[in-house]
Amino acid sequence: MTSNTAFAKGQAFQTPEFEQKLDRLAAVAVRTGLGLAPGQELVMTATLDAVPLARRITEHAYKAGASLVTTLFADEESALLRYRYGQDASFDAAATWLYEGMAEAYRRGAARLAIAGNDPSLLSQEDPEKVSRVNRATSKAYRPALELITRHEINWTIVACATPAWAAAVFPDLPQDEALARLWDAIFAASRADQPDPVAAWKEHDANLHARADRLNVKRYSALHFRGPGTDLRVGLADDHLWLGGGTTAGNGRYCIPNMPTEEVFTTPHKDRAEGRVTSTKPLSYQGTMIEEISVRFQEGRIVEARAARGNQVLQRMIETDEGARRLGEVALVPHSSPIASSGLLFMNTLFDENAACHIALGQAYSTCLKGGDSLTPEQLASRGANKSLIHVDWMIGSNRIDVDGISAAGDSEPVMRAGEWV
Ligand code: ZN
Ligand code: ZN
Repeated sequence: MTSNTAFAKGQAFQTPEFEQKLDRLAAVAVRTGLGLAPGQELVMTATLDAVPLARRITEHAYKAGASLVTTLFADEESALLRYRYGQDASFDAAATWLYEGMAEAYRRGAARLAIAGNDPSLLSQEDPEKVSRVNRATSKAYRPALELITRHEINWTIVACATPAWAAAVFPDLPQDEALARLWDAIFAASRADQPDPVAAWKEHDANLHARADRLNVKRYSALHFRGPGTDLRVGLADDHLWLGGGTTAGNGRYCIPNMPTEEVFTTPHKDRAEGRVTSTKPLSYQGTMIEEISVRFQEGRIVEARAARGNQVLQRMIETDEGARRLGEVALVPHSSPIASSGLLFMNTLFDENAACHIALGQAYSTCLKGGDSLTPEQLASRGANKSLIHVDWMIGSNRIDVDGISAAGDSEPVMRAGEWV
């Protein structure tokens, strides 16, 4: 796409090629990402900048037989007004009724689609204390709905939409229309919407990710050892852990691919068995604030030292959310040659950056990454090592300078990745 493409803020480009790719993205999101069932309801969330994509997705959802599509639009500018004019008590308030309603919709069988594309630095000028209070109140209110999602009881997916603020963050030196066009190109490529048959392309990619996860499941490693600049970390894996990648069959029987793009295979670490130091390899955009050069030390699974060169206050408040926020809930392997990493871009959006590098997540574990995990009680999950928290924050620890070893129950180690690539 060229830089002279007609563009108006918040509206789609008008070229036929662009419209075709946007349409393919919407179609593959509904058919392959979501696996929407005929007659199923859909609850979608999006920002106002994502209206053109949200409309396309709505169209394809109805064509796929959706009974009802309900989109909850959020306006980022309005979100900022709370910080300008809200009274102190406002920062502990959350629309509990709304999140309860979302959870109720999922319990009654609705699917969930989120369009990502937020301004990565929206809240960077705001008081970290207030940001943290808002995040906490929102996470608490959202938890019942989020649990249905993290337990994969329903089919769900996240897709991305380029927005002016996000594009400006990724391409700060380009004029706005060119930045937006470049970001769209990257999204279409990573989401395989630039291919003639995105559904077929995803089928092949999904099979490859499953094969990779299967190979790791045969190994039954008890721990992974990450080594690189600023990193010497041993991550114990949960008992009966399962490696997953690509699509999954939700509790409601629908097959979905929860993230588009996705390049990772991931599993549940043991919450008490992380040891050593780890340094982030990419900045993390967390709830509208950038956190850079994170360095933490784990002891018996718990963070005992943490600092960040930028956004340190936000990092400290994040790990103070609850006891589980200091412990690991996910470990994921992504080769440095993944298409998203090869783009060389820093997206400042977890959906993309976590698929460009090996990563860990602080907080809530996915019970689907344990054998029979969906039918285990919270006590059984905890005894196998699955972490519990209000947060789940992925951050990147992989690069082409990271080696990963797999350690067997007997203590033998073998190379899994060298210089960021599969062995
Ligand atoms: Zn992940
Ligand atoms: Zn994650």
